[in-house]
Amino acid sequence: MLNWTEIIDSWLEKNRSYQEMRDDVISLFQVALENTSIPEKSWFGFPLTKGRLSIMFGRIYLIGIFDKTIEIIVDVDLNKETGFDTRIVGTSKPSGLNLYWISTDFSNIKKLISNEKIWEHYRIASQKVDNSKSIRSERKDLLTGKFLVKDIFNDQIKKDIEKNVKIQLQLALEKLNKEMLKIIPEKRLAEIEQTLRKDKRIIELLKKSANYKCQFPNCNSEILTKKGINYVEVAHINAVHKGGQSIIGNLIVLCPNHHKEFDYGNLEIIEQSESLLNGVLNGKAFSITHITEN
Ligand SMILES: [Zn+2]
Repeated sequence: MLNWTEIIDSWLEKNRSYQEMRDDVISLFQVALENTSIPEKSWFGFPLTKGRLSIMFGRIYLIGIFDKTIEIIVDVDLNKETGFDTRIVGTSKPSGLNLYWISTDFSNIKKLISNEKIWEHYRIASQKVDNSKSIRSERKDLLTGKFLVKDIFNDQIKKDIEKNVKIQLQLALEKLNKEMLKIIPEKRLAEIEQTLRKDKRIIELLKKSANYKCQFPNCNSEILTKKGINYVEVAHINAVHKGGQSIIGNLIVLCPNHHKEFDYGNLEIIEQSESLLNGVLNGKAFSITHITEN
């Protein structure tokens, strides 16, 4: 089966000036393919005669590399928000969609890849294109050399990417955990502050690894934040001021209610190890498996 990275590699063969930026080109199209809303009607690839690598829908480019310029479609004018130049997509005007292309120099590729706002609006735009007759009618001449996104970027690949992200997260967590193992707080205030200051990263990673869900069994707490993620906290099982470290096995992700119940309720720890935590909280038995074991 044809792989989307092989398509990029054969494009790079023909466009050698981009070759040293292979990783960035791959990352750019990976995030674009992931966010392309209608993979069964969107086309990825490049025509044999031209140097344009792109994803197309009907007769417009959703994203493309054109002669050291990158263009990405979005559903609102993001010029003020992102600082990137934008221009309206002419063919979107008749249907009143008013889509825009973000248009920028290749040197900004990393900034594009990491800008979540752009991909959020790319996702919406790549959905909206199907509402316009003047856009969705395909032009065969523009589709030569291209492949349907659904055929080259399937669920299995998506799962592999998710798995990769998980593995990366896991590795980062393990590395940080080793660092945190070296920090053993004593009961002096300065060191407690140091511990708390230094554990920000492991705390963020743990929250992410827990998918921002409270680890207390059967808890469905939902506090949606502006960022669109669920608000959770990380609790130390053995408190920092009592010598508890910020390491796996002593940290759990909890909703604010369970966090307070842990801190102020009647908590009896029955078993605590690097992999699990068993106990009774206000008369309720619980068992929590720590993140690394998932
Ligand atoms: Zn909870």
